[in-house]
Amino acid sequence: MNIPDIIIAIDGFSSTGKSSFAKLIAREFGFRYLDSGALYRGVTLYAVEHGLIGDDGVIDTKALGEALPGIDLNFRSGKDGSKTYLGSRCIEKEIRGLAISRKVSPVSTLPQVREYVDRKLRELGRQRRVVIDGRDIGVTVFPDAELKIFMTAAPEVRAMRRMKEMQGKGEDVKFEDVLENVKERDYIDSHREVSPLAKADDAVVLDNSDMTLEEQMVWVKKLIAERFGDD
Ligand code: C5P
Repeated sequence: MNIPDIIIAIDGFSSTGKSSFAKLIAREFGFRYLDSGALYRGVTLYAVEHGLIGDDGVIDTKALGEALPGIDLNFRSGKDGSKTYLGSRCIEKEIRGLAISRKVSPVSTLPQVREYVDRKLRELGRQRRVVIDGRDIGVTVFPDAELKIFMTAAPEVRAMRRMKEMQGKGEDVKFEDVLENVKERDYIDSHREVSPLAKADDAVVLDNSDMTLEEQMVWVKKLIAERFGDD
């Protein structure tokens, strides 16, 4: 199916499967995939590695603000999809671990960090034909996105998915810890002052608690065909 150069914004709670879904949509329609969470995770990794977050979780916001313009985060696509880089170093594995997952939400509440990520995303998405996943893409970053999807699922379902994903990567994690992290991130993401997780008025809700990825693809292809198909 040929579709026009649109922006597809996929927002929603953590571990609703936004990135797997967004990647498949990108592949199906020949769009570029942009992972906004990876940029927040990359900034968090930088802050951890440069001693800008203490063991007590306190962030040196002044030093981080000064460092931001020099943080070179980017995406490179290889044979197994798009990967996140800090300069020339692939940081994909480090940014997905529980250590960074635990620290990323407080970092992403900082206005200067949000400005940095928003600017990067707008730059990367300016030619459109992109699928972007995040929390505030449809409301704040690209309010003019032509298609907005808001994803949700029960916290236990999300924690189970996340745990399997982490175990698949060799991380030893307990269900209770993952569930706690999912709920904690929901709370911080929905209550922060700047750009909280929010559904855009014109977003379509997708609750995938009981849906497979294949079923979600059938759903979205139908939606896209109805709205943007050329026949
Ligand atoms: O999507 P992912 O779980 O990788 O995002 C990591 C964290 O980055 C989220 O828990 C959230 O705190 C933050 N984030 C955000 N806004 C976005 C994307 C992610 O605040 N657009």
